Amino acid sequence: MIRRICRNCGSEMVKELTSEGPKFFCETCSDYSPYDAFDMDPFCPECDEMLQFCGKCSSGFFCNRCGCILSRKHIVWKNR
Ligand SMILES: [Zn+2]
Ligand SMILES: [Zn+2]
Repeated sequence: MIRRICRNCGSEMVKELTSEGPKFFCETCSDYSPYDAFDMDPFCPECDEMLQFCGKCSSGFFCNRCGCILSRKHIVWKNR
């Protein structure tokens, strides 16, 4: 999964769909800041199991071992 991290503040960029196509916005800087893209995998902070992206809620990640949904803020990202 590709994560886009703001070079100015380290926050994750938010995808926005504009008439020119998708753009990436930093909510912390309130700007279309420069960013770096990393290919990372989400892991559970409790049991270290790799998480599955939850298509139903589109913003959550599911841990098969704990049987719970975690929000983006609480998951651990690891480089591939
Ligand atoms: Zn920023
Ligand atoms: Zn877990």
